[in-house]
Amino acid sequence: MATDTSHGTKRRNSASIESEGAVSIKDSEHLFQEINDRLSVRLHDLVQTDFFKYYKLNLFKECPFWIENGQCVNEACAVETIDESNVPEMWRSNVLGALQTSASGSLFQPFKSCEFREQDFCVVEDENDRDGTYVDLLDNPERFTGYAGPSAGRIWKSIYEENCFNMVDRMDSKSNLPGMTLVNLDKYAALRPNIQDQIEIEVDDTCFEKRVYYRLISGLHSSISIHICNEYLNQTTGVWGPNYDCFNKRIVPYPERLQNTYFGYVVLLRAISKMSDYLKNYEFCTGHTEQDAQVKSMVTDLVNTATSCPGTFDEKLMFSSPNSRILKEEFKERFRNVSRIMDCVGCDKCRLWGKLQVSGLGTALKVLFSYDDEFFNPKVNPNLLTRTEIVALFNAFNRFSESLKIVKEFRELYKRVNVNSQKSVPPPPQPVSSPKLATSANASQDPSSDNQFVINLILSLRDMISPYIKRLSGLFSVS
Ligand SMILES: Cc1cc2nc3c(=O)[nH]c(=O)nc-3n(C[C@H](O)[C@H](O)[C@H](O)COP(=O)(O)OP(=O)(O)OC[C@H]3O[C@@H](n4cnc5c(N)ncnc54)[C@H](O)[C@@H]3O)c2cc1C
Repeated sequence: MATDTSHGTKRRNSASIESEGAVSIKDSEHLFQEINDRLSVRLHDLVQTDFFKYYKLNLFKECPFWIENGQCVNEACAVETIDESNVPEMWRSNVLGALQTSASGSLFQPFKSCEFREQDFCVVEDENDRDGTYVDLLDNPERFTGYAGPSAGRIWKSIYEENCFNMVDRMDSKSNLPGMTLVNLDKYAALRPNIQDQIEIEVDDTCFEKRVYYRLISGLHSSISIHICNEYLNQTTGVWGPNYDCFNKRIVPYPERLQNTYFGYVVLLRAISKMSDYLKNYEFCTGHTEQDAQVKSMVTDLVNTATSCPGTFDEKLMFSSPNSRILKEEFKERFRNVSRIMDCVGCDKCRLWGKLQVSGLGTALKVLFSYDDEFFNPKVNPNLLTRTEIVALFNAFNRFSESLKIVKEFRELYKRVNVNSQKSVPPPPQPVSSPKLATSANASQDPSSDNQFVINLILSLRDMISPYIKRLSGLFSVS
């Protein structure tokens, strides 16, 4: 268990908390959904392209922390790898291998001797690794695999308990935290036209950077759970589809965790915006000129859209105090540990998406905290990021974006179902955490009201579909 060195800022100005505090994330939810409406289709299209769908990783590194026996035996855990002959020629081992050999014949393998560089927040997959395998991400969707039990539990437990600055109990509580206070957020009112200038937020003795760390991990965890619930295998019918019981159990009771997914989303968004010039000038090479030009224009369009969105995360407020150098190193080391723990995941498909998304988040952190803006000049630093990092960043962003979309679709479906069935739905409950500040304008954005409509949605849907399920199962049993 690592020691808890608290060199970060304990009480921050309103801006930093606005970007991260649970209540403000909650109140800005509609803003994030609006942003995602503009980005999600573009992201979805982008990850279908060859440049972004092929990812090389070493899926079978040994777990460095314990002997992992919990291999998932489910078919759904299997990863379909692809032969290198199917990926663009310039990415194949023989070509990359030749490129590594300098004129004098010595090998240039920057990542072989060490797994990461000083700037990295995670272990970076090495595209030159001869033990690595290419996967087509579209052939291996992130969804329910059946991986659960002690092996999965141990992974999450070690991430939270050993790598989260011992914050689990403090952060994941539905009750008000001690030390809550009113903070003036006037400065950011323009971003949130429908909410009050003053909102109640959590300010406890946990430093801001550590809360950010926890929220990223928890946000990833919720996003994974959303995908599991949304693409669930009904083991009786063999049909894939949303599982409302799963949502009811894993998502509905935990609005804070959902807010953490929004938080992860805005961090990824900010990283992409920060390196917009770099991305717009990046050479997306697959060797197919027309396709490459198309990818470049898709990325430019996406990045322009991202930069036109209101700013939602200000990284300059993190690690800004003179004492925070040690905290930053600890933050980095812990995040690298999370990426190493991914090698212990006992299900290949989960490991693939776990590694990719941790790498995407790690890349975002590197963009935000390892380089100042001027580093992202593509003429000066054309090779700041590897292809693997860029692919991971955009695919992770797409996974979070899909999660937001799924949540929104549930909401809309609920409204439609409710109108159609003309059922009377009890009014949304008042927010739990800040009742005295609730207004009619923001009450409908509150996660606790979200809870109510998701619960009602589940019940309505269940009512609606159960006759069909019964009929279908009748059909199956006859045949
Ligand atoms: C890296 C990784 C990737 C995975 N990918 C997949 C996948 O693609 N498909 C699949 O079917 N399974 C996947 N799994 C397994 C999946 O995440 C669950 O572990 C499994 O479904 C069992 O779920 P559970 O309900 O027991 O609770 P878990 O999700 O295992 O959670 C364990 C405990 O963590 C706490 N917790 C849960 N969510 C949060 C949160 N958001 N924030 C804070 N605390 C939380 C709760 O106390 C919970 O009891 C993956 C696991 C890991 C570690």
